[in-house]
Amino acid sequence: MKEYAKSFYKSKAWQRARRQVITRANGLCERCMAQGIYKPGYIVHHKKYITPENIGDNKITLDVDNLEYVCEECHNKEHKAKHNNSRYLFDGHGNLLPPTADHTPRGSNSHGGKRTEGVTSKKRCKVGRI
Ligand SMILES: [Zn+2]
Ligand SMILES: [Zn+2]
Repeated sequence: MKEYAKSFYKSKAWQRARRQVITRANGLCERCMAQGIYKPGYIVHHKKYITPENIGDNKITLDVDNLEYVCEECHNKEHKAKHNNSRYLFDGHGNLLPPTADHTPRGSNSHGGKRTEGVTSKKRCKVGRI
């Protein structure tokens, strides 16, 4: 969670708005539900993102029309789509998780000499035929 938003997320007003949204959604992800899928929600998301500029604006931060209860998958999709960066995951609003290291197993292949080149071109031929 970002520093500027900490006190907001601790506030009673936010807790109340959040509970209202979860109740409205019956504890289910509202985006999945729109597609007929019943999936438990995970986080109350601000459709219009909270920024240091609007954090004091109750019409944005506490308006239930600006809030939706979503599951983790929908929430990640939302933020990935907007930021267009699939390497990063968000844990809650704006809390960026570091990219996981085990997603990049290659690296040893890249400094090959002529042999590697040969292997690569063979592979390319095969792919071309398909
Ligand atoms: Zn969902
Ligand atoms: Zn969000």
